[in-house]
Amino acid sequence: QLSKRLQTVADYITTGHRLADIGSDHALLPVYAVQSGKVPLAVAGELNKGPWQAACQQVTNAGLSASIDVRRGNGLEVIEALEADTITICGMGGALICAILEAGHQQGKLEGVKELILQPNIGEDAVRIWLLEHDWLLQDESIVEEDGKIYEVLHAVSSKQAKQQNDKLYKGEGLPFAEPINRAILLRMGPYLLQKKDPELKRKWLAELEKLDYIAASLTQSEQESARFKLASVKQDQKLIKEVLEWLY
Ligand code: SAM
Repeated sequence: QLSKRLQTVADYITTGHRLADIGSDHALLPVYAVQSGKVPLAVAGELNKGPWQAACQQVTNAGLSASIDVRRGNGLEVIEALEADTITICGMGGALICAILEAGHQQGKLEGVKELILQPNIGEDAVRIWLLEHDWLLQDESIVEEDGKIYEVLHAVSSKQAKQQNDKLYKGEGLPFAEPINRAILLRMGPYLLQKKDPELKRKWLAELEKLDYIAASLTQSEQESARFKLASVKQDQKLIKEVLEWLY
């Protein structure tokens, strides 16, 4: 049984695709994907020795060594071009996910890949920007709560029409602000998540507002000149988030 977060990721995997799960840790996702018949073959990639050993053990115990190859290495270095149809990168920060994608892109490892399923723990906006700048079409997003934490899952596909479709997606139609604010909000909060209006989205941004309250309080106490500017920007940010939430809910 997968966690709700990884189940959401697994549900996006197109049946029949060959999977590469990067940063696989215990290889729970590839084991589930193969056992459930979703994918015929998978690679579990891991940079670090402990998680790599755990993945090897898990795959051996599941009797899936013939269909899941556990490989040790950095990011997409563990796969060859055209070897995987779906790449999943989950449970890391958005900056690291972008760094892995960018290196893989430079090395030609994304060639032939049909879908990316990404679950950043933070920095989701950086991932949306990377996808947009590299002409991956953002096709859907989900938000789930698990053990008091809220996670976003982004599903992007390779598409010849990515540019036009992304342009439309990030146009900000229906949003109440002027450009470039609308686009910034969509990249930050997620165009599909804003459409879906899940209660988790509201909870996530209310928690973010609380964090900003905390930051604002400590900046107010600071005597540094730069703190005044930072405080103004935090307040501006809070105002915008509140306006979006009021408009949305
Ligand atoms: N993907 C699993 C999940 O979502 O439950 C595991 C997430 S775990 C928090 C992140 C894993 O990514 C760790 O096992 C870590 O060793 C691995 N990792 C970090 N940087 C990596 C990289 N550059 N390439 C491959 N794996 C990496």
